[in-house]
Amino acid sequence: MLSAVYGTLLTPSMVSKWSEDEDGKCKLCEERMGNIQHILAGCKVALSQGMYRWRHDKVLKQISEQVVFHCDRRVNKAGDGRQFIDFVPAGRRKAERIAESHEYKLYRYSGLQAEIQAKGWCCYNAAVEVGARGVVAQSLERAARRIGFRGRELKKLVRDSRKEAAHCSRWIYLLSGRKEWEFRKVGA
Ligand SMILES: [Zn+2]
Repeated sequence: MLSAVYGTLLTPSMVSKWSEDEDGKCKLCEERMGNIQHILAGCKVALSQGMYRWRHDKVLKQISEQVVFHCDRRVNKAGDGRQFIDFVPAGRRKAERIAESHEYKLYRYSGLQAEIQAKGWCCYNAAVEVGARGVVAQSLERAARRIGFRGRELKKLVRDSRKEAAHCSRWIYLLSGRKEWEFRKVGA
């Protein structure tokens, strides 16, 4: 449903098909065609302005809060040992290149995982992906199941993460016509 919604959004690239005044280029970088894929995940200016990072961190915060809540209530109180949930802090790759970045994230944190395990902690290294248009890759559901998310709690996590990504992408789209963008810290 979300892609259908995005498909109807006006982009420079779309407008250029019927208007001669519009060259179709992205208004931020003025280099590439301003289609929705470019605006939401492929623009180097948007990237350098911190837009994609902002969305990444907002989604991560959503996931992390629910995981912390889950661990506190379900895992720690159940008394089956300590848990450590690890997240990848920076989305440096294009959000849509999910399979490739998944391997990269796992690799990036394998050293940290070994270190934590050496100290006697139970540690899962799970890379999770939520696409720019709110598409939740199975990795999130899989990782959540692994640490005990079930039923309503699991549905809520997936739904809220998807909503947050879509909400942030909407702002990225709305701001794609202007150059000024103030980087806001998550939670600020
Ligand atoms: Zn651009």
